[in-house]
Amino acid sequence: MSRDWLDKDFYATLGVSKDASTEEIKKAYKKLARENHPDLNPGDTEAEKKFKEISEASSVLGDERKRQEYDQVRAMGASGFGGFGGQGFNVDDFGDLFGNLGDIFGFGGSGGRRKGQTYQTNINISFDEAAKGVETVIPLRKEVSCSACRGTGADKGEAFHRCNICNGSGQTASNQGFFSFAQTCSACKGQGNVIDKACKTCRSSGSAIENESIKVKVPAGVDNGTVIRLRGRGGPGDAGAPDGDLLVQVAVESHKFFKRSNSDLILEVPLLFTEAALGSSIKIPTLEKSVTLKIPAGTPSGKTFKIKGEGIAPQGRRPGDLYVKVFISPPTNLSRSAKKHLENYRDQFESGDSPRNYLYE
Ligand SMILES: [Zn+2]
Ligand SMILES: [Zn+2]
Repeated sequence: MSRDWLDKDFYATLGVSKDASTEEIKKAYKKLARENHPDLNPGDTEAEKKFKEISEASSVLGDERKRQEYDQVRAMGASGFGGFGGQGFNVDDFGDLFGNLGDIFGFGGSGGRRKGQTYQTNINISFDEAAKGVETVIPLRKEVSCSACRGTGADKGEAFHRCNICNGSGQTASNQGFFSFAQTCSACKGQGNVIDKACKTCRSSGSAIENESIKVKVPAGVDNGTVIRLRGRGGPGDAGAPDGDLLVQVAVESHKFFKRSNSDLILEVPLLFTEAALGSSIKIPTLEKSVTLKIPAGTPSGKTFKIKGEGIAPQGRRPGDLYVKVFISPPTNLSRSAKKHLENYRDQFESGDSPRNYLYE
């Protein structure tokens, strides 16, 4: 089940608003699940499809952490943030399917082989690295499949046989009236196999702890808080089930001068009052180089100039712009002579001509 969150509006699927409470989401899901449950609509492929969709939507929106992640991904999608290549924001589990149904229909446990755990970790990168993209290595202490038994937990990976109670499915079914109940097979504890002789290395757990260095490609333009999903780099799944994913949350350090708003950069720049009054050309640093900005005569404090294309260029996207906001920085240590000149200027040219006159009309 590998699907792209960017293409799916789970809120619409469940018919709830974006700010719906968890309660409302659960209620909407239950109602739709009842209407579309395959057991109630035998042979109706439309209902089956719909049922899968609402289950997937609910498994994400019903989980606060996943919902947050989903919202974040969608928000980025809406601002056109794309091109994350093969390692980006996909979800592949609608693993809560049985769990949710348990809610409604009173199923027993979630039998079967489980997908590996999702791991989470954080990395810190500089402002420039976030702007240009960076490849970094994360040291991770993680659970891996035991290599001695290839994760089976059985000696040499061979000393097991298929469970003959569940025929290897890990689940048994029992019919109660209308519904068929799936239950974890008690003979093999849902594993599908029964171990005859335990692996000595992992004491039949099938897993080991290892230090691993995981390469992460951070795409250009990531913002603080972005979560990168590395499929299959999380905990090992049960034999035959996929490994979990690794979620890497990116923290981006702030910049000495630049502030950031999505792909745009914001820079505040002081002007001498003569530069503002008479006009001037000033040098503005950008991320890569510098550019010259023409300040027209009579520029007021707070005026913002846009320098096109000098913002951040997210991978595969048009770059943002650089916004330069100027403010007037008055001289603080005037010499006696400079002060005299300014006083002369005031007396000759500013008498009665206050920029605040409009306040007193
Ligand atoms: Zn079994
Ligand atoms: Zn082992």
